[in-house]
Amino acid sequence: MLNSQRMRTDILPLCDQHYRTMEPVLAPYNADYSIEFFRCTDKFCHRCFGERVGYTTPKRGEAPTLAPNQPSCDRHGRPMFIISLDRQRNHVTYACPEPDCPERLLRP
Ligand SMILES: [Zn+2]
Ligand SMILES: [Zn+2]
Repeated sequence: MLNSQRMRTDILPLCDQHYRTMEPVLAPYNADYSIEFFRCTDKFCHRCFGERVGYTTPKRGEAPTLAPNQPSCDRHGRPMFIISLDRQRNHVTYACPEPDCPERLLRP
């Protein structure tokens, strides 16, 4: 894969619509293999997280674009993904896909 960046595999993204764990689309994977996309495990949801475009719902024949509300890591400029939802305090936590990046972002 050209220009593929590594994506961490220690934490998995959650769907930004369902807060379900997303699964890597390119399987199988291991420590030597970089993942480019994750998708929601809800079979009716077509939400994906791509390492360059962040959260997106792919449409046939259209190039995915970065959503205006998609947060990026200050350090790496990479689109961040949701790692947890706090239903009591009603906020989500985003993390950077860069391996070992400690940046976290809270969003209501
Ligand atoms: Zn979903
Ligand atoms: Zn980062």
